[in-house]
Amino acid sequence: MNALKQPKVGIVSLGCPKALVDSERIITKLRSDGYALSPDYAGADIVVVNTCGFLDSARDESLEAIGEAMNQNGKVLVTGCLGAEPEVIRQKFPNVLGITGPHQYEAVVSAIHEHAPIEKNKFVDLVPEAGLKLTPRHYAYLKISEGCNNKCSFCIIPSMRGLLSSRPLGEVMTEADNLVKSGVKELLVISQDTSAYGQDIKYAQSQWRDKEYRTKFYDLCEAMGELDAWVRMHYVYPYPHVDEVIPMMAQNKILPYLDIPFQHASPAVLKNMKRPGKIEKTAERIHKWRDMCPDITLRSTFIVGFPGETDKDFDMLMDWLDEVQLDRVGCFKYEDVRGATSAALDNHVPEDVKEERWHAFMAKQQEISAAKMQAKIGSTQDCIIDGVTEDGKTIIARSKADAPEIDGNVFINNCAKPVTQGDIIPVKITDADEYDLFGEVS
Ligand code: SF4
Repeated sequence: MNALKQPKVGIVSLGCPKALVDSERIITKLRSDGYALSPDYAGADIVVVNTCGFLDSARDESLEAIGEAMNQNGKVLVTGCLGAEPEVIRQKFPNVLGITGPHQYEAVVSAIHEHAPIEKNKFVDLVPEAGLKLTPRHYAYLKISEGCNNKCSFCIIPSMRGLLSSRPLGEVMTEADNLVKSGVKELLVISQDTSAYGQDIKYAQSQWRDKEYRTKFYDLCEAMGELDAWVRMHYVYPYPHVDEVIPMMAQNKILPYLDIPFQHASPAVLKNMKRPGKIEKTAERIHKWRDMCPDITLRSTFIVGFPGETDKDFDMLMDWLDEVQLDRVGCFKYEDVRGATSAALDNHVPEDVKEERWHAFMAKQQEISAAKMQAKIGSTQDCIIDGVTEDGKTIIARSKADAPEIDGNVFINNCAKPVTQGDIIPVKITDADEYDLFGEVS
């Protein structure tokens, strides 16, 4: 079986600091989508030239860079200021794949997906598979490392993207800081295994804003807490040191939100899955986290119907859900992933049994989620504004408990104040269904 390929993108950025911010946002988004960066043209599957068109010399330099990319690679997208004059570019380089103007990073990312597509791996994809929904400007995914040192049997990430390779904390924080300066109000920290951040570089010291930090999950949370933005942690495995960041959540330095892909609760299934960490004490720890930080939201994903999963294993999972009362949960029916070792395991679960278990799982979680949402009626929640409905009558927002694209929304029908995307305002919750809240702003 072939391993999936991770396309590589080369980026050349010319021009002013604003163009650099566009390039950084393109890179941030590409990293979160699973692309790798190529340091040279030859090794890239596609090249982006972010141009400058302000002075004649800058235009010449931009055209020269496009020419070089065309010669050495041939698959070239042009963006930036000179992109506002597509005829100038087309005249010299009729075969460029696409041309966009400045600050159109969404269009650039879209074109990269079109010309160098990436295969999806739904059990482990970091960003939800929602067609090609691009990140609005008020929130951004921040990828802190690439690859993974684990060997989960249903996953091909380590063979596709290699072992864990962490970006030094100072580099991650500079990117985060620039995103916040460019208007981002919420940062979503992602990697394949966020709590393992820095292990590969022995938690190397790194400097940011004149202070020394270790390249480590705890220090990252501490540094991110200094930013004027919501910070949401995804793909955190429940290693013991995760307990140390809960007080920072209680103090509102980072959002009281943890996305932990548990995948199952039966030790036998987890062993077959080759998952890192131990499940036995996890329920106890979750209760402690809630004692320390009562507002914490726990999100997770699970796989039902994994090869060898018995009725007993499944019942164990259902009982565990009852016990830990997770706030947000996604569930997949197991299916073989090309190249994953789980395909060769014995005792594959028949499709009708998978289907039955999935429905039972979803019904249970829906009940838990509905009760949790009901309990929020009457409370006031800080919410970030995402936009308005098509008819313009309802404001779409999210509370601290809702990650964009994967969790619920807060719909505001009655808002006395003018608001814009990215504003954070207190909302009085007046109603709820299984996944969403409804509220008003006085
Ligand atoms: S932790 Fe497991 S599932 Fe996640 S990327 Fe690593 S090997 Fe894959």
